[in-house]
Amino acid sequence: MTADIIPHTSIDGHQPCWQDELAATIRDPAVLLARLEIAPAQLDGAAVAQQAWSIRAPLPYVARMKKGDINDPLLKQILPLGAEMQSVPGFSNDPLAEEDANPIPGVVHKYHGRVLFIISPACAIHCRYCFRRHFAYEDNTPGKGQWQAALDYLRQDESISEVIYSGGDPLAANDNFLLWITQQIATIPHIKRLRIHTRLPLVIPSRIDQSCLHWLTATRLKVVMVWHINHANEIDQAVMAAAQKLKQHGIELLNQSVLLKQVNDSVPTLVALSERLWDTGILPYYIHRLDKVAGAAHFHISDQKIRRLQQGLMETLPGYLVPRFVCEQPGARSKTALFLSEPGAP
Ligand SMILES: *Cc1c(COP(=O)(O)O)cnc(C)c1O
Ligand code: SF4
Repeated sequence: MTADIIPHTSIDGHQPCWQDELAATIRDPAVLLARLEIAPAQLDGAAVAQQAWSIRAPLPYVARMKKGDINDPLLKQILPLGAEMQSVPGFSNDPLAEEDANPIPGVVHKYHGRVLFIISPACAIHCRYCFRRHFAYEDNTPGKGQWQAALDYLRQDESISEVIYSGGDPLAANDNFLLWITQQIATIPHIKRLRIHTRLPLVIPSRIDQSCLHWLTATRLKVVMVWHINHANEIDQAVMAAAQKLKQHGIELLNQSVLLKQVNDSVPTLVALSERLWDTGILPYYIHRLDKVAGAAHFHISDQKIRRLQQGLMETLPGYLVPRFVCEQPGARSKTALFLSEPGAP
């Protein structure tokens, strides 16, 4: 999509550029399992689930998985399963009723002072728990002309001080567009901050190249990047190097995670994640209870368990490495805090 617009360069010259890595993404569960040396018999309904929502497995991410382990916490996040096709009461296609908070195409305005821009409908990776898997993206990918309406929306509401690039994954868009839209936003005096919620630099660290750093830094807006990392094994040397570059350019780095059964539902796993984030220069921000999206019920963990995890983290880590436990409730005016412990809670 972007390959013919952006020159294929990378900071270190000899490394592959992100567009090539994106193009090489695995889109077939059988290919992924073969690469991981796992028997195809373990596919368990993947073909059917794959038809509902395809697999996308970027190679730099796959390289962090353990060979031969069907229970690898990274593999679990992206392998389609037959279980996704079961309809489970309480799990729906639009659990956050986001479609109601969509004033004009490309814009989601639910909370005071901050507005989401759905910059790109595409993602480099498909996370099976994602609450956006059923979102009406095709109605939410404005062309440049329609972005004017989104910019007018910002201009006429002085209570908005922050724009959040979201998606899909906003960094799946090309840097020419990102430079343009960021420049447009920066002309609006009451906008102070730009926040970018992305998984791309995690799954394809070469995304943080010169052309990306250019638009991130050529702006008066204060830039915050929120990574979506769920497990310490997701962070390798290349991820650390990408984070380092961003930090050197003055970008604040935060992380949000989702609590996922058999991925990160233990205290030691979450402690290791926070420690690894700290080593990477990223501060834990939120940890979300799973949104009840159809197809993701097999990731669900009970509130009782979540409470124990929260307690365990608080008893083990410095306060600044304990993420805020939150959930989303349709119609709420902010994220909803979970628990924050009555003393001695079970
Ligand atoms: C989560 C979210 C935000 C950001 O909320 P913060 O608490 O500021 O991180 C903004 N808009 C929408 C629609 C959201 O879902
Ligand atoms: S929006 Fe984020 S969580 Fe959802 S599939 Fe894309 S990268 Fe994964």
